[in-house]
Amino acid sequence: MKVPFVNIGLQHRQIKSEILGIVSELLDSGQFILGGDLVKFEQSFAQLCGTKYALGVANGTDALFLSLKALGIGPGYEVITAPNSFLASASSIHIAGGTPVFADVREDFNLDPVQVRKAITPRTRAIMPVHLTGRPAAMDDILAIAKEFSLAVVEDCAQAICSVYKGKPVGGFGDLGCFSLHPLKNLSACGDGGVITTNNDALYEQLIKARNHGLRNRDECEFWSYNSRLDNLQAAILNIKLGKLSEWTARRREIAAYYIERLSGLNIILPIDKPSEKAVYHTFIIQSGRRDELKEFLAAMEIDTKIHYPVPIHLQVAARYLGYGLGDFPVAEAQTGTILSLPVYPELTDLQVEYVADTFRKFFKN
Ligand SMILES: *Cc1c(COP(=O)(O)O)cnc(C)c1O
Repeated sequence: MKVPFVNIGLQHRQIKSEILGIVSELLDSGQFILGGDLVKFEQSFAQLCGTKYALGVANGTDALFLSLKALGIGPGYEVITAPNSFLASASSIHIAGGTPVFADVREDFNLDPVQVRKAITPRTRAIMPVHLTGRPAAMDDILAIAKEFSLAVVEDCAQAICSVYKGKPVGGFGDLGCFSLHPLKNLSACGDGGVITTNNDALYEQLIKARNHGLRNRDECEFWSYNSRLDNLQAAILNIKLGKLSEWTARRREIAAYYIERLSGLNIILPIDKPSEKAVYHTFIIQSGRRDELKEFLAAMEIDTKIHYPVPIHLQVAARYLGYGLGDFPVAEAQTGTILSLPVYPELTDLQVEYVADTFRKFFKN
């Protein structure tokens, strides 16, 4: 039985005719930029995150970058983030003009508040927790540190739409929440897209101009800025997908629960919710000392797995100027040798999920 790591085509099977219908309507109306579908999407998204506002932008990296700019991050300022994230968490800080500073993570892949505190300097301006794998970061501790040192908080929610921490969805804890709608994310556009969430009126007013050339209205420009809008066509498609999101999230959690049940008792670390969390399993990552062998064994049985991510950001060539080296973040570095992501998308059949668990168990019995 083949189990690919992703299958984006399958996701569209149930909603294809609806999508084609809306695309056809929009081709006739020509409503492509800042149209009604975008407004509707932004309202639904804000409601989903329990925030006052949501703002569509061109992609998740722009969501982070524009958010940091809106907070005044620039030369001389440091932003603390996780070294084990997708590289855009750090690159967005650099392209905003600031300096990424890393702090090590805990067993659950999220920022360790103790290490965040140690990374604070007089130049620190903000903390960017990443809700990596769809599991919420330790927001109570991070918000307490931010308050103590008067730091802003930008949540990188790219992998974590609808992920819940202490009863509240991510995206509304910090000053700003940043989401990606990349085709591989839990809610995805048919191309690139991103969203910024906030409860802050002033930041919202700033960002609505910042994503659209700095324009206050059609003819008056307040400051030079970027063109980083979410296409109305994408928003229209996303409105259809939003209707499926809770079902898809429930299915991801169902598959994760099954894996956890079937794989417990083996000599591995499983990604289990704490009582305060409801993870959305963008990825399902186990940790094993025999990772490479295991990956090979599963591949031979036609089960595709991935490593998120094999090279931590602080050891990337692009980050060399920051002066970090091997040994700086022992937990994150050790995890790169043990982590393995199993297929966890909603369209997996029960038979496929059972086959993954059975095959996985077989490896540890041998
Ligand atoms: C995907 C992702 C991003 C970037 O989003 P894009 O839409 O691809 O620009 C940023 N941070 C994390 C953690 C991501 O997973």
